[in-house]
Amino acid sequence: MSRVLVIAEQQGGALHRMSLETVAAGQSLGGELIVAVMGAGAAGAAQSLGGYRAAKVVVLDHPALGVYTAAAAVQALAWVIAAEKPDVVLLPHTYRTRDFAPRLAARLGRPLVSDAVSVAMDEKGLVVERQLFQGKMAGTFRCDSSGPAIVTIQAGAYRADLAEAGTAPVTTVAPELGELGPSAVPGEPYRESARTVDLSAAERIVAAGRGIKEEGNLEIVKELAEALGAELAASRPICDNGWMGMERQVGSSGQTVAPKLYVAVGISGAIQHIVGMKGSKCIVAINRDPDAPIFESADYGIVGDLFDVVPAIVKELRRV
Ligand SMILES: Cc1cc2nc3c(=O)[nH]c(=O)nc-3n(C[C@H](O)[C@H](O)[C@H](O)COP(=O)(O)OP(=O)(O)OC[C@H]3O[C@@H](n4cnc5c(N)ncnc54)[C@H](O)[C@@H]3O)c2cc1C
Repeated sequence: MSRVLVIAEQQGGALHRMSLETVAAGQSLGGELIVAVMGAGAAGAAQSLGGYRAAKVVVLDHPALGVYTAAAAVQALAWVIAAEKPDVVLLPHTYRTRDFAPRLAARLGRPLVSDAVSVAMDEKGLVVERQLFQGKMAGTFRCDSSGPAIVTIQAGAYRADLAEAGTAPVTTVAPELGELGPSAVPGEPYRESARTVDLSAAERIVAAGRGIKEEGNLEIVKELAEALGAELAASRPICDNGWMGMERQVGSSGQTVAPKLYVAVGISGAIQHIVGMKGSKCIVAINRDPDAPIFESADYGIVGDLFDVVPAIVKELRRV
């Protein structure tokens, strides 16, 4: 039976939403699952992780891990990998793991497959899928079995709400960290958005595209977002025009989101936009062009003029 180590991410005791998605990915492999967590507040996060099906949850406790640095994180993870001897190491593809996962892979002399959309086991071992060329092609990867395969999991590739509940014992260990050497001094933790919006955690999103034509028309889309209790987002041209902040851009050069509901208003569905929102559970597209590519990704499509359709939906939502 394969051993799978999931490295969960947390901040101040609160689990990053993608940590549970990665636990769900780890559970799907069917082997023995170990979940490790580190940093200030890790003990609190471990209590939540203990409520999921896993062989154990390991808290890595060391003063050098209190405030995140890549150097200490890599040493602690190399230590726990040597101790637990997993066949597969899974991490959420967050800003933080983008910082340290390549360094961890280099330290272990192992390849890293980043931003994977699926992981599976067959008779030859782990099979990883990730997208290539902005989502135009899918690549299938195998890692040789001379050491652990290290894989980061794309936001929304697995569903956090499908992570199986269970009872996992929580243990705390003190990893041995060697000489940390000259290290970067951590500044303010990076926030996933400059303002209050964290689209990656939003349950509902209404996104505006170039179909709205001018900045003043954004009001129509804002009203729909308000009526749905949704966050506002946009395609790239809207943000490039300065009509919305860059932190609200969805797509390959913006945020990757996976809400329960994604309403695309006047968005054509270019691949660079689709890769950022295709993990949404339910996609509703409003577009006057019946051949717009967005309809290929949509669960519900409304062919019509957004200036008629959106106010009508808002009116109905307010009525009910
Ligand atoms: C390297 C690179 C990275 C990129 N990164 C991103 C990214 O992160 N995110 C992103 O979104 N794009 C990105 N793009 C741009 C992407 O290729 C598209 O140009 C962009 O997504 C198009 O935005 P849009 O759908 O809003 O506009 P358009 O393609 O112009 O589509 C507008 C749509 O509105 C519809 N429409 C017009 N009027 C109405 C109306 N009255 N009622 C209903 N529908 C109407 C039209 O039928 C059309 O389908 C990137 C491009 C490159 C090259």
